[in-house]
Amino acid sequence: MKPARFRYHAPKTLEEAVDTLADVAAEDGRVLAGGQSLVPIMAFRLARPAHLVDINGVDALRRLAVDGERLRIGAGVRHAAFHKPVVDGPLGRLLTAVVRHIAHYPIRTRGTFCGSIAHADPAAEWCLVAAALGAEMIARSAGGGTRIIPAQDFFHGIMTTALKEDELLTEVRVPLLPADSRFGFYEFNRRAGDFALGMALVTFRLRDGVIWEPRVAVGGIELQPRRIADAERALAGHPAERTVFEAAGAAVASVVDPLEDALTSATYRRDLARTVTRRALEQAAA
Ligand SMILES: Cc1cc2nc3c(=O)[nH]c(=O)nc-3n(C[C@H](O)[C@H](O)[C@H](O)COP(=O)(O)OP(=O)(O)OC[C@H]3O[C@@H](n4cnc5c(N)ncnc54)[C@H](O)[C@@H]3O)c2cc1C
Repeated sequence: MKPARFRYHAPKTLEEAVDTLADVAAEDGRVLAGGQSLVPIMAFRLARPAHLVDINGVDALRRLAVDGERLRIGAGVRHAAFHKPVVDGPLGRLLTAVVRHIAHYPIRTRGTFCGSIAHADPAAEWCLVAAALGAEMIARSAGGGTRIIPAQDFFHGIMTTALKEDELLTEVRVPLLPADSRFGFYEFNRRAGDFALGMALVTFRLRDGVIWEPRVAVGGIELQPRRIADAERALAGHPAERTVFEAAGAAVASVVDPLEDALTSATYRRDLARTVTRRALEQAAA
């Protein structure tokens, strides 16, 4: 099947892009970034936008830079930018460890970090990163209005976010991690390149062998990725050892409200949440 008819717009500046989006938003006008999610759903006619606003010609959106304590990732930055660390320290290594789990190489050369955040698939790796690390999403609309939306307020459910129809996600700001931060990422899927059935991202620091500042987040398990406070409480102030990791995994399993589909039951996903959490913690401790 081919997409339904649409009008194509190719703005060259950010102002032009948000003005065009404001003009067409009411007719289901959509931003076209990497097209790796939007084009397939258009081809199946699951989406029939009357207008596409292609942001690939807007140079200002290709910015990828450290600014103070944050990494700023512009809307034009593709997944493949993270194949090598983009910043020294644990955050750069974390992003490089995560990116290879996203789809396949050709898709990573087109798909964008911000497109993935805006699309908000519950099993998207970048959405999990944003939720785990407390990223901020920068949304801009016509007339120069800018909103800063914290990750915990951004994801509203499956492919649903706080973005309004006329808002362009211009960048995502991810806090840098302290130099002594450890991280672990563990994802399970049935075939390489598929979306995760379940995944966990954890970070913590160690002081005299004791865990502090733990972050534990899971993705692909519930409607949206999120940090699990009960698991973080099970870790903080405890030694980095298997029994503690098992307690954190059990805490995750006890509070999640797992998704269910034709191939994967909620019971399976709950158990998977426990396992991916423990394995991510073991990775971080190694
Ligand atoms: C076979 C296959 C396997 C895949 N596997 C994975 C995977 O394992 N993990 C994963 O995370 N992803 C996976 N993807 C999706 C891929 O990562 C996409 O690149 C990503 O989801 C969307 O990014 P995009 O830049 O391609 O966005 P597009 O497809 O261009 O847009 C997606 C949606 O977001 C909106 N949008 C995009 N950018 C903005 C913006 N700046 N402001 C406002 N709205 C915006 C669009 O309007 C559209 O609704 C897979 C895709 C395919 C085809």
